[in-house]
Amino acid sequence: MSKATCLAPDCEATSRCRGNCSRHYNSLRQLILRSKENDEPVTWELLIDAGLATPATVDHPLSGFITGVLATLAERRRSKESTS
Ligand SMILES: [Zn+2]
Repeated sequence: MSKATCLAPDCEATSRCRGNCSRHYNSLRQLILRSKENDEPVTWELLIDAGLATPATVDHPLSGFITGVLATLAERRRSKESTS
């Protein structure tokens, strides 16, 4: 299985969140935040409908990241113990 790439046109970066690379994900997030004041606010649902984003895969956006950080720290601790 090949790595999923960003859904943004002409972007070859690996998708990180909601089908977008971190750069485009942040741009979309800014767009959503800015458009909240508009008559027709942009939402993740609209972007998903348009094929520009995918539904969030985890309940909390940072839970996967935190799990990865903890696993990395535990791994480093283990390798240190084994060499000393
Ligand atoms: Zn991108």
